[in-house]
Amino acid sequence: MTEAETTSQTGKRVLLAKPRGYCAGVDRAVQTVEEALKLYGAPIYVRKQIVHNKHVVRTLEAKGAIFVEENEEVPEGATVIFSAHGVAPEVYEQAKARALKAIDATCPLVTKVHQEARRFAAEDYDILLIGHEGHEEVIGTAGEAPAHIQLVDGPDSVDKVTVRDPEKVVWLSQTTLSVDETLETVARLKQKLPLLQSPPSDDICYATSNRQHVVKEIAAECDVVIVVGSRNSSNSVRLVEVALDAGARAGHLVDFAHEIDEAWLADARTVGVTSGASVPDELVQQVLAHLAEWGFTDVEEITTANERLTFSLPQELKRDLKAAAAARG
Ligand code: SF4
Repeated sequence: MTEAETTSQTGKRVLLAKPRGYCAGVDRAVQTVEEALKLYGAPIYVRKQIVHNKHVVRTLEAKGAIFVEENEEVPEGATVIFSAHGVAPEVYEQAKARALKAIDATCPLVTKVHQEARRFAAEDYDILLIGHEGHEEVIGTAGEAPAHIQLVDGPDSVDKVTVRDPEKVVWLSQTTLSVDETLETVARLKQKLPLLQSPPSDDICYATSNRQHVVKEIAAECDVVIVVGSRNSSNSVRLVEVALDAGARAGHLVDFAHEIDEAWLADARTVGVTSGASVPDELVQQVLAHLAEWGFTDVEEITTANERLTFSLPQELKRDLKAAAAARG
């Protein structure tokens, strides 16, 4: 591409979604691992991927984090960090039994859903948890009250639902679902259970709904939408689905810029770009640089919300950081 071949001549443009990328819960979880590595030294064990992003996990591994699947893989007495997706109470018990120093990086918005589950279970409700079977967050939330919670994995699972008392049922949800599909699931549940209660506040988090909202705004104008995110990232996968539902001609999920297939862009004039809540913006910038090489140099950022929420580090880590600072004088 020569200087003369400017955007106006190629007619190629990028619509860049904002908000995109890191949410407050992911930022806190990644910082938790980084601060723990600095404070206690490597290695620091992390149960499950701290957030669902390949690049983030590799970067933390390079700094000395060791990712494990279960507490049994952590040496007795070592430090373990629980991921942003949350854990069932039995995981804390296992950590205690192995004398592990546990730091909980569960996103406070996931913790809120756990609290709702405990509260409704204590009041003897049947809880219909809308979410994806096998997802870590759902396993953690369901573990709060397994006898009271049944999973509803999308609208097609509604037929299987059975409850003890149709007057004492509430629905809760995973934080990273498609807003529209969840509304559909709830509508189907309400046809079956008219007295179904809703959660006290939205369980789908602000970051998930904001990223879906802006993608809906740009999708119809896009020949292709590229979502930066990992395959095991629920909110990233949902962004591709939302883009397609909202009129994008094609949608693709990539971890890295080099995964973009030139054939996707062959007849494209407008490319939408966004990223999941666990994706650092440097990966999006690399995608933009890659697109520019193919003539997509005109980048327009479309903003539908400005996010300012931040969460403070986990208490147990803050306490140790404070003690270390005091010791240094
Ligand atoms: S996506 Fe939402 S629930 Fe998940 S870590 Fe981010 S803010 Fe928390």
